[in-house]
Amino acid sequence: MGSVTGSVDLAGCERLQYDYGPDRMPKNRPVLFTMWRYRELLPIPDGPVRYPVPIGGTPLLHAPALRHALRTPHLWLKDETRNPSASNKDRATALVIEDGLRHGLRTITTASTGNAAVSTAFGAAAAGMRAVIFVSTDCSPEKLALMTQAGAWVFQARGGYAAAVDLSRTAARTFGWLDRNTGVNPVTIEAKKTVAFEVWEQLGRRLPDVVIVPVGDGPTLVALEKGFAELVSCGLTTRQPRLIGVQADRCQPLVRAWLGEPVRPAELDPAATLAGGIAVVRPAIGDAVLDAVRRTGGGMVPVTDDAMLSAAAALAGRAGVGAEPAGAAALAGLEAAVERGLADRSETLALLVTGRELKASDATYDPRRVTVAESLDDVERALSSRRGTTSGFSCSA
Ligand SMILES: *Cc1c(COP(=O)(O)O)cnc(C)c1O
Repeated sequence: MGSVTGSVDLAGCERLQYDYGPDRMPKNRPVLFTMWRYRELLPIPDGPVRYPVPIGGTPLLHAPALRHALRTPHLWLKDETRNPSASNKDRATALVIEDGLRHGLRTITTASTGNAAVSTAFGAAAAGMRAVIFVSTDCSPEKLALMTQAGAWVFQARGGYAAAVDLSRTAARTFGWLDRNTGVNPVTIEAKKTVAFEVWEQLGRRLPDVVIVPVGDGPTLVALEKGFAELVSCGLTTRQPRLIGVQADRCQPLVRAWLGEPVRPAELDPAATLAGGIAVVRPAIGDAVLDAVRRTGGGMVPVTDDAMLSAAAALAGRAGVGAEPAGAAALAGLEAAVERGLADRSETLALLVTGRELKASDATYDPRRVTVAESLDDVERALSSRRGTTSGFSCSA
């Protein structure tokens, strides 16, 4: 018990005093709560974890003021913004790099709309790997600055995100690089399923009734379903929570597919929504998302940008959690889900807050590390022209 016994004034600064003694300090060492806690269900062999930054073990917040405002007495926020690059992408990055380090690989590549790129750049920097990242030419300078600040090599594909994915995957095959592309490397799903294990443990080995998740390419939702299914396989629970996927109404291919309705062009415009993290026209594993939602008895809902902005404001103002629009989509989706009868306010509801925008300390990127590329030749030429410089580079893994 921390009972204050008085205070003294030292050089004009008031300092509280306690009843001092050796037993004021804890004797046991704290155990770090990270996703490696679940390594018995991860594809990594025994031995020390090489990835040097703690990942996962994010708080499950009970957000009392938000509960009160929304009349949802059993609402929980899984705050994935607490990962080092402020999004849930860090789980996948960490496990892919851990796997790559064990196989002696030294270069990692991914295509990304933003957060996976920043996560990969940071993760590679921490692990001493080289990151080669492919983005669309409309990737924001601020995001590029975060990547080049972390020492990544960045290529901007003129053909947008789809072309960036093609280039990244071709480069990985050709040069033997570690491929972190979402939905391609199964390890990304393994990493993200640890969110399900954490929520279950944090609720006292109980499951929520409903989990609400923003959906872009799909691995976050699909991985949750796999995690909960594995708890059933382990004999630790008998049922799974209903999964509700949320998309921006201006880019909602999977909501329309879920409803069995044709999607209009205005609903497939990634540039038209603020929710960049989930604005994916052709989700990498969309069918698996629909399958997971169906099997858990859940649903898919669209939300407007305004609803995401209000949700972000509510997260900040009533829970003290900062979120980007895509990161606040689950809270916006809660209202949509309640309206459609997919969730009830009295249920135990877990919402994933998936990301918060990081700010670069210097908003200008290093132009030597950013090249527009149309083909693998462009990539090879740009990288080998750096060979022999202080930041030298050869394409071999
Ligand atoms: C990537 C991302 C998502 C969606 O994840 P998927 O696994 O691609 O469906 C949601 N929110 C944020 C902030 C993201 O960066």
